[in-house]
Amino acid sequence: MSYNTKRQLSKIITTLKENIVHCFQLPLCESVIKKHGKEPFLVLVACLLSLRAKDSATMHVCNDLFKVAQTPEEILSLSTQILEKIIYPIGFYRNKAKTLKTVSTTILEKYSGTVPKDREELLKIKGIGPKTANLVLGLVYNIPAICVDIHVHRISNRLGLVKTKTPVETEKALEKVLPERYWIEWNGLLVIWGQNICTPISPFCSKCAIKPYCKQVNVIKTR
Ligand code: SF4
Repeated sequence: MSYNTKRQLSKIITTLKENIVHCFQLPLCESVIKKHGKEPFLVLVACLLSLRAKDSATMHVCNDLFKVAQTPEEILSLSTQILEKIIYPIGFYRNKAKTLKTVSTTILEKYSGTVPKDREELLKIKGIGPKTANLVLGLVYNIPAICVDIHVHRISNRLGLVKTKTPVETEKALEKVLPERYWIEWNGLLVIWGQNICTPISPFCSKCAIKPYCKQVNVIKTR
């Protein structure tokens, strides 16, 4: 990593932290941890439910679901009909209910009811992809892993830190430029920035605190 990249990264992270604290809503999984503690299964469920859904809506669904089920056994004890009814507000409710049942069954049968702490084992579970696996490893088990969602992929490219086409490529590229001590927090910081400032279409560059360190790659229209 060049001196400039190292300096750029350190400035970006410090500035994001200064500007994010107390200003914006926490990302979903951090909110779940704040409310329920570092419960691996709850963080896993929240992450699975959040795919292609807004954090605010997913949080409501998590609240409803966790009132009646907080363990793989409890998820499996719910009928598919009831589970789908709870998940319904965030869409893709049939697929998501099915995923929760499959993941719960696998965790019970193959891992004695405990969410594995190992990336390879997590990825063996049908329904869990790299993004979910890395989020659980980092946030719950404190194992360095970069969770690359759409915000992390988009902003890492706009900043000019990576030049990639897919989140999987971004994860590999970030592992080379991002010091390991930043891997876990990178997702949370960029998710908040992506939801509030560096939005997908027409980002708010005029009020972006990290603009001095951003190359604004492929950013055409800004506010
Ligand atoms: S300057 Fe614009 S493109 Fe760069 S991070 Fe900020 S909002 Fe995103």
